[in-house]
Amino acid sequence: MNSYQILAVIGVLVFVFFIAFKNKKSAQKEINNLNEMDYLSSSHMTFEDVAGNFEAKESLKEIVDFIKNPDKYANFNARMPKGVLLYGSPGTGKTLMAKALAGEAGVPFYAVSGSDFVQVYAGLGAGRIRNLFKKAKKSGKSVIFIDEIDAIGKKRMNGNLRGSDEGDRTLNALLTEMSGFGDDTGIVVVAATNRIDTLDSALLRPGRFDRQIEIMLPDRNARKDIINLYLSKMKVSEDMDLDEVADLTVYFSGAMIENLINEAALIAVRENSDKISASHVQRAYLNVLAGSEKKNAEENERQKITTSYHEAGHAFVSRHLIPENKIIRVSVIPTTKGAGGYTLSSPNGSEVVTKTRIRKQLSVLMAGRAAEEVFFGKENITVGAQNDIEKATSLAVDYIAAYGMDEEAVFVNFKVLSEKLNISPSFVEQSVRKLLAEIYEDTVKLVENNRNMVSAIAKKLTEKEVLSEEELDSMHE
Ligand code: ADP
Ligand code: ZN
Repeated sequence: MNSYQILAVIGVLVFVFFIAFKNKKSAQKEINNLNEMDYLSSSHMTFEDVAGNFEAKESLKEIVDFIKNPDKYANFNARMPKGVLLYGSPGTGKTLMAKALAGEAGVPFYAVSGSDFVQVYAGLGAGRIRNLFKKAKKSGKSVIFIDEIDAIGKKRMNGNLRGSDEGDRTLNALLTEMSGFGDDTGIVVVAATNRIDTLDSALLRPGRFDRQIEIMLPDRNARKDIINLYLSKMKVSEDMDLDEVADLTVYFSGAMIENLINEAALIAVRENSDKISASHVQRAYLNVLAGSEKKNAEENERQKITTSYHEAGHAFVSRHLIPENKIIRVSVIPTTKGAGGYTLSSPNGSEVVTKTRIRKQLSVLMAGRAAEEVFFGKENITVGAQNDIEKATSLAVDYIAAYGMDEEAVFVNFKVLSEKLNISPSFVEQSVRKLLAEIYEDTVKLVENNRNMVSAIAKKLTEKEVLSEEELDSMHE
């Protein structure tokens, strides 16, 4: 080796050393940054700061008691949830709710976000989770909040457990930590997501996030509460009409309402008004809408009316054909699970599923679309029935192909038939079409014959946005 070569080798070595050192330094820096992001605060929020969402709050009140008196539950060997999953649209107050939980229980609040863990150095995410739990355990009782849990807890595709991803490692660390502390520690992990459908089912198993609470977009009453909550902190002129603002804000989340009131307050300040007035809110509303891609108020109102008739159809036919099915609520506010919606609960889930029962269920599924057709005409049906159609088709296929309930194919399983004989399933397709068409026709007639009732329900829904079963039944003469 001549001296040039030696110099070159030294040069390369210095360069490599420099790069490695630099990487190490920035990795260290990143660790420090991440640790600082574990944000600890004592929360002064209470459930009073959260408007609406009555049922979610009730469910969380039980958790408050559990954090305060873990021994009480341990003595009974009652297993309380270690993990609570809050799911629902963005801005509906999930973070607020978790803070209020910590505030009510009077314990520290540790918050991280799943998105912070994406694209960090290998092993860092898992280490950070372990650190977080170590800190929380040291402080005794606490609420650990993980926002955007979907960023680390995504469904693994095709059950393919690679276990090599940084996300997987972080998730595994989380699950290990959660099973690693006892039921009597008074630590509760609260996670939030806008997309429960993308979550790995491993997260939802018992002993993990087994308490799942939906945080819904506010209905008219809840919106009034939220508006009131924020206006009560300001000087408000007499011309302000809460009902009007509630009507204006259909499909708004809590965060959007808070933003609207804040915008209105800014306008008031700009104009040196000493009070916030209805006109300030009106103008703020136009600003807020212009700034986003939100549909305008008129379109929202039209959408609400169409949805009201659709849901009224479901609700009426359900009460009429299957009165033993309890309706928890009928609502025109979309949920994360699908558009609009009525929530059913069957009496005890153990009723015998007869042929008649399946036909009735098909009719209930079709009643939304049927009502659209009856009240707005065949040409004006909407995409709102997509989900209903999917469910009905699947049920009808089983009716024909698996349950052997069709008169022309008694006791035949078509899956077996096609596997063993390699025949085409065109009979099933024809029969499914015939069955669905027949029941749809009956459903349209049923709605037509009860036009007044269905339209009364729809009008009430447009006005109130949510109806309970009692309210629904009180409308029957
Ligand atoms: P999420 O976590 O569901 O995205 P946040 O809790 O971050 O929503 O909500 C953002 C802000 O919107 C809150 O800090 C609060 O000001 C307001 N907000 C949302 N929902 C409510 C509610 N139900 N009551 C009062 N304020 C709310
Ligand atoms: Zn429907």
